[in-house]
Amino acid sequence: MFTHFFRFIIIVLFIPVWLFSQENAVWKAHDLNRPKPKIIIPPAQYLPVNPPSDAIVLFDGKDLSKWVGMDGKATKWIGGDGYFECVKGSGYIRTKQAFGDVQLHVEWSAPLPAKGQSQGRGNSGVFLMGKYEVQVLDSYENITYADGQAASVYGQYPPQVNAARPPGEWQSYDIIFRRPRFNSLGVPEKPARITVFHNGVLVQDNVELWGTTNWQRYTPYKYHPDKLSLSLQDHGNPVRFRNVWIRELSEEPGQAPNYLPSIALSENDLKKYTGTYQDEKGIKFQITLESGQLYLLRPNDRKDDLIIHSKDKFSLKYTAIDLDFHMDDNTIPVEMILTFTGSSFKFKKIE
Ligand code: MG
Repeated sequence: MFTHFFRFIIIVLFIPVWLFSQENAVWKAHDLNRPKPKIIIPPAQYLPVNPPSDAIVLFDGKDLSKWVGMDGKATKWIGGDGYFECVKGSGYIRTKQAFGDVQLHVEWSAPLPAKGQSQGRGNSGVFLMGKYEVQVLDSYENITYADGQAASVYGQYPPQVNAARPPGEWQSYDIIFRRPRFNSLGVPEKPARITVFHNGVLVQDNVELWGTTNWQRYTPYKYHPDKLSLSLQDHGNPVRFRNVWIRELSEEPGQAPNYLPSIALSENDLKKYTGTYQDEKGIKFQITLESGQLYLLRPNDRKDDLIIHSKDKFSLKYTAIDLDFHMDDNTIPVEMILTFTGSSFKFKKIE
């Protein structure tokens, strides 16, 4: 019994891990044979892109006051003069503020003249939550493995196309990131998701990550807090950044509406509502019953399913229109009040 219980617990704990595991990937990480994304010329962009009013500006062109080294101390990266630059050997930097779900805008520029090759040329990285890397690399006429080039989700997803600009030119990333969700036991329930536009071109389309990104290492999800610092990588190359801004996204967009629950009525009760209703201008609406479902028929051939919330309160299934019925002494509807965007219209039942 005891053993069965533990077997059950182990299965329950590890099924979600398995679902988001690398097992689902077709290619091994960093395979040079993985097809290279097609090279395209990105559209002309007008950079820098100014932040919207609700963005948190992480670098305004002047100083690195929103950033620190990973140890929490002042970073040695060079700030000022409109951009900041990675200094070799000084380590990653991270934001003082922690973030979860975000929209992030970053502009970056690879060193000119280009030096080195493959992963050694213009390498840095945007690490969402300090754990999930969107690769920064000089991918202009620079061959490397597909899942390691610019705008890849490092070691997991190559970009859909190579939209890189030449070194020395400013490039943009617009990233939408949804953090992974863990249950109350710290077990992963939903993987992290990333969408990336590179120089205005969609290159990552809501891809699901199977864990943190890493070099030559498979690292499945491990519990971490809902908000963590954003970090930028020191990979030894003097990559420049500017105009970094971030918007915190609502955790659960499109919250479930607070509609009234529906109830069922008997066929006999449903029949009481059928008939023609007319307003003071002579406009006629009809309620019909077909196979146990009530419909509201409006002029212009509009036919809507009705949801019943109580004997005197209905609504349309797909549109925010409410119907309130007034009954006579025999609980037969005699009047229907239709309410839409705060305006109400009275219809008398005429037949
Ligand atoms: Mg990198």
